[in-house]
Amino acid sequence: MYLAKTWSTGITMSHLNVQLLLTGDELMTGDILDTNSMAVADALMPLGLVLSRKVVVGDALPQLVSEIESITKQADVLIVNGGLGPTIDDLTAEALAAVIGQPIQEHPQAMAELQAWCERRNYPLNGPNKKQAMLPRGVEIVSNQTGSAPGFKVSHNDCIIVCTPGVPSELAVMLESGIAPLLTELLSTLFGESYTQIKKFQVFGVGESPVQRILAENYPQWPDDIELGFRAAFPMLEVKLTAHSKNGIKLLPEWQSKVEDQLAGHIVAQGNVSLPEALVTLLSDQKKTLALAESCTGGLIASKLTSVAGSSQVFDAGIVSYSNEIKHKVLGVSQATLAEHGAVSEHVVLEMAEGVLALSQSDYAIAVSGVAGPGGGTPDKPVGTCWVAWGKKGALKTKCLFFPAERELFQQYIATAALDLIRRDLLSIDAEPLYFSRSK
Ligand code: AMP
Ligand code: MG
Repeated sequence: MYLAKTWSTGITMSHLNVQLLLTGDELMTGDILDTNSMAVADALMPLGLVLSRKVVVGDALPQLVSEIESITKQADVLIVNGGLGPTIDDLTAEALAAVIGQPIQEHPQAMAELQAWCERRNYPLNGPNKKQAMLPRGVEIVSNQTGSAPGFKVSHNDCIIVCTPGVPSELAVMLESGIAPLLTELLSTLFGESYTQIKKFQVFGVGESPVQRILAENYPQWPDDIELGFRAAFPMLEVKLTAHSKNGIKLLPEWQSKVEDQLAGHIVAQGNVSLPEALVTLLSDQKKTLALAESCTGGLIASKLTSVAGSSQVFDAGIVSYSNEIKHKVLGVSQATLAEHGAVSEHVVLEMAEGVLALSQSDYAIAVSGVAGPGGGTPDKPVGTCWVAWGKKGALKTKCLFFPAERELFQQYIATAALDLIRRDLLSIDAEPLYFSRSK
């Protein structure tokens, strides 16, 4: 989803022609979404490589054979993904054997790795599993550290073919530990020193087009040697500067600070650090604790926080107070407030935040109450309306967000906005986030 050629430059990124062949009937029938091509493309980016083409085929031997043969005539590197499993519909090894004209035979290293994998899990090594060590003669193993199917590689038509597992978690490890080093070595053999450097910013509170406009207006002379890219990874926006030349690498720090100056408080973190990770670090650095009172997000804010290692140091409690009764009984929201203003109101989220602060003795609190939909909206409080209260005891702030979208997207958006509001509070950021808000 990166825009390889944006308004700023016209750099051709890839030094190598790398192509991806994905296989699996489930990819053709809509049973699963192909997320692996995203993982592969993402792993290539730091090396300055972009896929020149990707092809998806089912578990069909003739198509696999013909695609492998034809891609190797065009590409420097072919990554084949999927079809390494133990079942009869997994055909990658067989197809590759046909292409390179070698018999299938037991590969001693693959068998040893497979045996070790089974022993670690106390699994018997059965017949179907053994198939995963039956590989075309002459291939080299690319270790699979997390799964049973070893990867393998071979050269054909001056193209390096690397076969990788379809299981996304196994692919992720192999991309990092096996394929990135292989490509780095190939690039340095072919081109010597690498000239790719990437700087990423995780941004929230300002959209893609305002960012592009702000940068274009302030820096009309954007250098050709630095490529600007955006990835809308809902609800976050990733802004990325890529240098592809010696000059670009020299200019990168200066342009990085220009972007920092313009986006300022909207930058949540740099690199691959997530908003919950950044917030846990911030709370921990300031030795502060946080508690939550969630209604419409159903615990999603707590889940995001607790997915971060070390969150136990900064996160005290999360109350999912869905019913009015629990808002009253557990958080002490007054029945009069509920009756007068309704559960989705500024008064109620303030009392929810006060309640959870009293209950937990935390330094900070967030409370949210909204209409996730699809039902339950009124002209006054349509679906997508959400009140948020956040801050410290005696200094709580409130905001009415409005994000009418499918339930899950609404919850994701609200949970992220809530975390971002407390981040801004902790950092005393004045810059108003450009959230979707409703006037009171
Ligand atoms: P395979 O290596 O073909 O046996 O694939 C193993 C499992 O990985 C499949 O059952 C899918 O659930 C998953 N998988 C395969 N290809 C992809 C893909 N392109 N994206 C996401 N998951 C995949
Ligand atoms: Mg498969």
